[in-house]
Amino acid sequence: FSSSELTQHFLDRIAAKDERYNSYISVTRDIALAQAQAADERLATGDAPPLCGVPIAHKDIFCTQGVRTSCGSKMLDNFIAPYDATIVDNYQRAGAVMLGKTNMDEFAMGSSNETSYYGPVKNPWNINCVPGGSSGGSAAAVAALLAPGATASDTGGSIRQPAALCGLTGIKPTYGRVSRYGMIAFASSLDQAGVLTRSAEDAAIMLNVMASFDDKDSTCVDQPLEDYTAGLTDDLTGLTVGVPDEYFGEGLNPKTAEVVQAAIKTYESLGATIKPISLPHTHLAVPAYYVIAPAECSANLSRFDGVRYGHRCEDPKDLADMYKRSRGEGFGDEVKRRILVGTYALSAGYYDAYYNKAQQVRRLIKQDFVDAFADVDVILGPTSPNPTFEFGSKGDDPVAMYLEDIYTIATNLAGLPGLSIPCGLVDGKPVGLQLIGNYFAEGKLLNVAHQFQ
Ligand code: GLN
Repeated sequence: FSSSELTQHFLDRIAAKDERYNSYISVTRDIALAQAQAADERLATGDAPPLCGVPIAHKDIFCTQGVRTSCGSKMLDNFIAPYDATIVDNYQRAGAVMLGKTNMDEFAMGSSNETSYYGPVKNPWNINCVPGGSSGGSAAAVAALLAPGATASDTGGSIRQPAALCGLTGIKPTYGRVSRYGMIAFASSLDQAGVLTRSAEDAAIMLNVMASFDDKDSTCVDQPLEDYTAGLTDDLTGLTVGVPDEYFGEGLNPKTAEVVQAAIKTYESLGATIKPISLPHTHLAVPAYYVIAPAECSANLSRFDGVRYGHRCEDPKDLADMYKRSRGEGFGDEVKRRILVGTYALSAGYYDAYYNKAQQVRRLIKQDFVDAFADVDVILGPTSPNPTFEFGSKGDDPVAMYLEDIYTIATNLAGLPGLSIPCGLVDGKPVGLQLIGNYFAEGKLLNVAHQFQ
């Protein structure tokens, strides 16, 4: 079949099913059909780029030229991006077809997709339950077969946790492996783009196109590109797997623990050696993150002032009134909570007590991993303490929600790559196994994931 037929198939499925899941904010039908037709022409020449004609969806955090880029917020409901994010451009040049922009927690702040201005996304496994967040739209779209793969972003778990809750594979690469240019910033030192797919092989194919060096992002690392599909079938004999004690303590659902332990046993039968390890500062990851991420978010989101783009209130009295009301109306509660926390943590007199302290803790967390990787090749554990939960069940308690990311956040603080693969079910709900690798060991992680699948 042609790319045009394939694209039409997905567009028809989205039209028929997405009312149920709410996984897309915008469906870019005309662009998709035009790109598919162009792809078919290139395919006919026999000289087509790697993803030529393959439809994908982009998280609505990535700027797409001429297309609304809302970041899940009322603030950007009217924002048409004037340029493409580097990763969007990379996919376009590889011949991929854009089906649309996926729903997400507002400005990527959340773990349940309940903070989106466009309404919650439903988990295709059980529509009374959350898909995880913040890339819940990308996850639900792939899980419901409304896209074969989707782009996503991860600041504290937003790729891996929705992958776990929707039974998918999701990879957050090493910080700096993928360009952040044109990805709307939440916490710049933690944000990293990646993909959500149905298998590690698909993730490798997508990451091959997404990863690049980009001089428009000063934190992008000029590291040679590799073919992530090349080592997928490598044997795991001799692999040393570290299992951190701290990831199996209080707070982990006992049924989730059982499924994850069984997955670790499978690795033993595949030839790996299992080694208990300690990451002693794990308990400080959530508190450090909830100082650093809000601090950076309060600075990044100060650009949304109603002046140059985004929501502007009606009839402002003066400049201060315009700032106040535009931001008051444009941002939702969770975003405001983070801006307030971050502004407080950065204010004169508190900077040393909170922000500096959190940065020192971050350094200790990173050192835990550096020490661990002296002895092991990969680290395995649960992605999330619990499987998917019902809407509203954690809504009133931000701290309960924040603890859902307890196993994913440290990876972002250290800048390491992390991956989640489905490893079993608890009460009919998917459970994720998290694989953490050393810097730029994406190829190894994908190999280890592929051998399980
Ligand atoms: N759930 C975390 C938060 O709300 C992480 C979000 C993310 O990775 N974008 O900050």
